[in-house]
Amino acid sequence: MIKEDIFKKIIAHSKEYGFIFPSSEIYDGLSAVYDYGQNGTELKNNIRRFWWEAMIRLNENIVGIDAAIFMHPRTWEASGHVSAFNDPLIDNKDSKKRYRADQLIEEFLQKTEDKIQKEVEKATGKFGAGFDENIFRTTNPRVIEQQNKYDEIRKRYLKALADDDLKEFYRIIVDTGIVCPISGSKNWTEIRKFNLMFSTQLGSVSEEANTIYLRPETAQGIFVNFLNVLKTGRMKIPFGIAQTGKAFRNEIVARQFVLRMREFEQMEMQFFIRPGTEMQWYEHWKEKRMKWHKAFGFGDEKFRFHDHDKLAHYANAASDIEFAFPIGFKEVEGIHSRTDFDLANHEKYSGKKIQYFDPDTNETYTPYVVETSIGLDRMFFAVLSNAYTEEKVEWEGSAKEERVVLKLPPALSPVQLAVLPLTRKDGLPQKAREIIDRLKYDFNCQYEEKDSIGRRYRRQDAIGTPFCITIDHQSLADDTVTIRYRDTMLQERISTDRLPEIMRDKVSMTELLRKL
Ligand code: ATP
Repeated sequence: MIKEDIFKKIIAHSKEYGFIFPSSEIYDGLSAVYDYGQNGTELKNNIRRFWWEAMIRLNENIVGIDAAIFMHPRTWEASGHVSAFNDPLIDNKDSKKRYRADQLIEEFLQKTEDKIQKEVEKATGKFGAGFDENIFRTTNPRVIEQQNKYDEIRKRYLKALADDDLKEFYRIIVDTGIVCPISGSKNWTEIRKFNLMFSTQLGSVSEEANTIYLRPETAQGIFVNFLNVLKTGRMKIPFGIAQTGKAFRNEIVARQFVLRMREFEQMEMQFFIRPGTEMQWYEHWKEKRMKWHKAFGFGDEKFRFHDHDKLAHYANAASDIEFAFPIGFKEVEGIHSRTDFDLANHEKYSGKKIQYFDPDTNETYTPYVVETSIGLDRMFFAVLSNAYTEEKVEWEGSAKEERVVLKLPPALSPVQLAVLPLTRKDGLPQKAREIIDRLKYDFNCQYEEKDSIGRRYRRQDAIGTPFCITIDHQSLADDTVTIRYRDTMLQERISTDRLPEIMRDKVSMTELLRKL
């Protein structure tokens, strides 16, 4: 199936089964804003909990806070967002569509690389065992031509990025003949800078009004609370402060579902360290965070690092963790070495001394920071798209049919146990509720009595419920039920006493945390 088709199918599935809805849909939605439905919220909460516990429970020296979205406007001057949080914007005059110039060039480079890779793959198939890729790459005229084009454009692009040269961006777009994917034309406007922060007014009387911003990242709420946490938590460097919460960016191009939203959620941790130790901690957190991603069990090949070509205004080293989404590898998390940029600037702008006396070295310094910053919505979609599976199966002896099943890690599933009475009479519903009442304190249970058992199984598969139990007349007599496992579809008869033991290991977050 074409990758874009799978992407679209997952989007449709997530709406049909209560994971994600377009925001204010009855008014035709709001561009790049989404609501989480009943199942999506449970799944999102579970991913957030996995992150929170991995950070805070498993690390003695990391604590969590919850800062406000609104912050003093000076915060964003100090952080550099007022002057430097811009994207290069370009419009196509025919389609009237808006693009990020840097993304257009990066896509061009990616396509050129893909073309070269295709030639190599074709030749590998043709020449078989004796094929030497190096010789092929250095002698094949088509590959050489593409490679030269790639190298030249990449060099110009990196220089333009470093120099912040918008005119050169424009020249690259013209020289490479990049066309608008909608109109197919090369009729471009000039490139302008566009600040991504949303602003609003604080106060009800206009004279008192004061422009404030919706935070574009959660990190600043941590920096401005550094001294508070340091003192009240009696923290000692190295230590971290973590938080999860909403962030807002007026993205120019927001066409990839929850991968690029205007309101999204971040899970960030700022780790405060002694200057000069940042590279060691940067490597440490890169490794730790990769381990967290791999603990989901999606397959190690699904994740990779991508080091930044251009560093943000605050960073001296930065790497992304990318996930193989159905539409290709995309960033889900950034690990950044932010030096003392933020704390030093907040000291300058606030006039408050923001320093640390290190009892181990008897020095006073402005701590350096290594941060890990993950987008919860992107992670959500990574989990969902990895779980989405279409299979041909036999339903109770009938001909083969397709089933859609979400093979979610059971600890993350919105519903962990579905309890299904075979009929709505003879006391079976009562028995089902009695079992739920016993288990609901430890597991998220759902009662379902509508439709045939087969259809109910299919609905539970579609939301990723790892266990279904069926209550029949025998259940009344001997307290046994039929348990059905989502992935294997195997069924067995068990005593209800065994349910907690069967489920606990599989659905417990502890098992995920133990992998870290
Ligand atoms: P990109 O290059 O994709 O715009 P970024 O490098 O600007 O992302 P960061 O500022 O490092 O992103 O933010 C940390 C994380 O927040 C990202 O790894 C991503 O998962 C998430 N994120 C950033 N922007 C968005 C968005 N518009 N929608 C959803 N998630 C986002």
